[in-house]
Amino acid sequence: MWYKGNVHTHTTKSDGDADPEVVVEWYKNHDYDFLVLSDHNHRTIIDGYSDSLILIPGEEVSARILGGDIPIHLNGIGISRVVEPIDAGGVVETLQANVDSIIQAGGIASLNHPNASWAYDHRDIVQIQGATLLEVYNGWPGSNSEGGPGKYSGEEIWDKVLSSGKIIYGIAVDDAHHYSDFNHTMANPGRGWIVVNAETLSSKSIIDSLIAGKFYFSTGIDIEDISLQEHSIELVISQHRDYIYNTKFIGKDGEVLKEVPGLNPKYEFSGDEGYVRASTKSSIGTRAWTQPRFLK
Ligand SMILES: [Zn+2]
Ligand SMILES: [Zn+2]
Repeated sequence: MWYKGNVHTHTTKSDGDADPEVVVEWYKNHDYDFLVLSDHNHRTIIDGYSDSLILIPGEEVSARILGGDIPIHLNGIGISRVVEPIDAGGVVETLQANVDSIIQAGGIASLNHPNASWAYDHRDIVQIQGATLLEVYNGWPGSNSEGGPGKYSGEEIWDKVLSSGKIIYGIAVDDAHHYSDFNHTMANPGRGWIVVNAETLSSKSIIDSLIAGKFYFSTGIDIEDISLQEHSIELVISQHRDYIYNTKFIGKDGEVLKEVPGLNPKYEFSGDEGYVRASTKSSIGTRAWTQPRFLK
């Protein structure tokens, strides 16, 4: 089964503008299957939502280093207790110390919005051990997800990390803060999500699939099926309106191996690509990304 969820959301328990119950209701009403409430340095738990939407405990472990100028934020997903942020001095040391704390609290670690305040990039990430996820797309306007002159995008940072041989899975998240005023300057829900292939809709099953990389991430494109064979990968993309779709199959160092238009892009591995992942864009600008398949 495929389950849709968002793993980065704020409520009034930190700097979000809606109570946890209201936030949960928004996601429930928009057909999400699971949600992580990830308030800053607070583990927000509410009871009574176990029917159509499950809540996976989480927290945005939020450290500031270098006199408060540089935010180093990591999500702890599936943690069993609150994790206090650690300022360990440098960027790499702080990322690593907080990854370790999250794992000690029983969770998996996501490296959040590297380009927020241009805090860190692949040169730091390749030195980190134990992180499971990296935010390639973050919907909060402060995230600088697309990069720019002299700055790598989240997707370019991800390729550079993958090209080093380090496996970290990409995600898209809302990082939502604002639930009543919908505007491009606001951090609204519904901008980025993951779709997880899991046995059942339970915290454990979802987290197991995140660890195994059995999911894709999206800002608006639905993928109906991903057929990963020994020698090929093929997608089935859902048609929305009269949009047209283009898929790039991307390998080591971000090299575009092949571009395929249409709803059924397929790529045959030659074996020397390092890894292969698919990145699809629609004619309205929405996107979807699969996880990399590493080739020996
Ligand atoms: Zn953050
Ligand atoms: Zn956040």
